[in-house]
Amino acid sequence: MSEKEIQKNRVAILGSTGSIGKQTLEVIASQKDHLVAEVLTAQSNADLLIQQAIQFQPNVVVIVDESKYNYVLDALNPYDIKVFSGANALASVVSMETVDIVLTALVGYAGLHPTIEAIKAGKNIALANKETLVVAGELVTNLAKENGVNIYPVDSEHSAIFQCLAGEFHNSIEKIILTASGGPFRGRDFEFLSQATKEQALKHPNWDMGDKITIDSATLMNKGLEVIEARWLFGVTPDQVEVIVHPQSIIHSIVQFEDGSMKAQMGLPDMKLPIQYALGYPKRLANDFERFDFTRYPELTFEKADNKLFRSLDLAYNSLRQGGNMPCVLNASNEIAVDAYLNDHISFLQISDIVETCLQKSSFISTPVYEDYVDTDIETRAKAKELVGKIRL
Ligand code: NAD
Ligand code: MG
Repeated sequence: MSEKEIQKNRVAILGSTGSIGKQTLEVIASQKDHLVAEVLTAQSNADLLIQQAIQFQPNVVVIVDESKYNYVLDALNPYDIKVFSGANALASVVSMETVDIVLTALVGYAGLHPTIEAIKAGKNIALANKETLVVAGELVTNLAKENGVNIYPVDSEHSAIFQCLAGEFHNSIEKIILTASGGPFRGRDFEFLSQATKEQALKHPNWDMGDKITIDSATLMNKGLEVIEARWLFGVTPDQVEVIVHPQSIIHSIVQFEDGSMKAQMGLPDMKLPIQYALGYPKRLANDFERFDFTRYPELTFEKADNKLFRSLDLAYNSLRQGGNMPCVLNASNEIAVDAYLNDHISFLQISDIVETCLQKSSFISTPVYEDYVDTDIETRAKAKELVGKIRL
């Protein structure tokens, strides 16, 4: 290996076939002097994983779905690429010596275990999988501190806050203001929302993302999850995190300091920017992404979020204020409810009903350890599935 090769940041991408995963590979392809793909993983999209592996020649790929293992193995046989399978393989490949940073672009609770293993192995994390911090933010951030690991946010709002905090090490945060696009149903009424189809919900105005986060954006649960994510990434209280709707998604978030001064980070809505910032940190790597043009955005507007109609936001705040295992309940019930909505088993507004009922009916654990999160996740999923069964359309 040449000296230059060693200096490159070797990236393990968990979920390389998804929206964030594919954009991460675009970033790596455009930053060949700085970044290299070391590990690629996918749940079940074997064909895309094979195609990516042939193009990027990683050291290892993981196909989580074991029924696809032989198919991937045969296709990659001519290449010097190791192939593993199963969910446990994710947790072991992140610890490989040749990995410098793990970009968590898989969706949902499944991100928790491999992220914990990566941190224990001393790997820096580029965190897209916000659910990990929602479920077990205290445990994960403490573990990162103990292991001297940095968690670089990939979520655009948190990347914005992180960028605004550069050089402000000694200054306390008064408030964090997370911007929200408002999603595809901004301004809609109860009548509309009660009939809203998944096809309508999946049409996000500004971002092209995976199905789960797109539905979360339509319910505003995504912003709720981001409030919890911000609490753990930046060590603030729930009262210090505010949400404001900014439909153009140009200002990605704002930090207000104790002198009242506010710093905002802005740019076109393109996830490649926060991905690249997380992988290149502390350097800003030169690129030829499209530049912002003021004449195309004569107006940047702001409005209050409608938390009466979009109840997920308050449910998330309340679960965070309660603390303990409640955000874990919020996440698990939301994952089941979103899945049920995507399968036409429940209506749009029933997503937050299910989350609310699960939060009310779960037993509270004030200082959970890892096993408590695992149990809470399993129990909540069962409870949420039961509720889906009762109201199934
Ligand atoms: P996606 O559905 O497009 O992709 C998910 C990826 O994870 C795929 O590669 C899939 O194979 C893999 N995967 C799914 N379930 C898995 C499991 N159980 N085990 C292992 N691998 C699994 O999702 P996405 O939109 O790229 O989002 C990924 C994460 O990034 C989410 O946590 C999301 O909230 C977050 N995020 C996404 C965006 C965005 O613009 N897409 C922005 C901010 C944050
Ligand atoms: Mg976001």
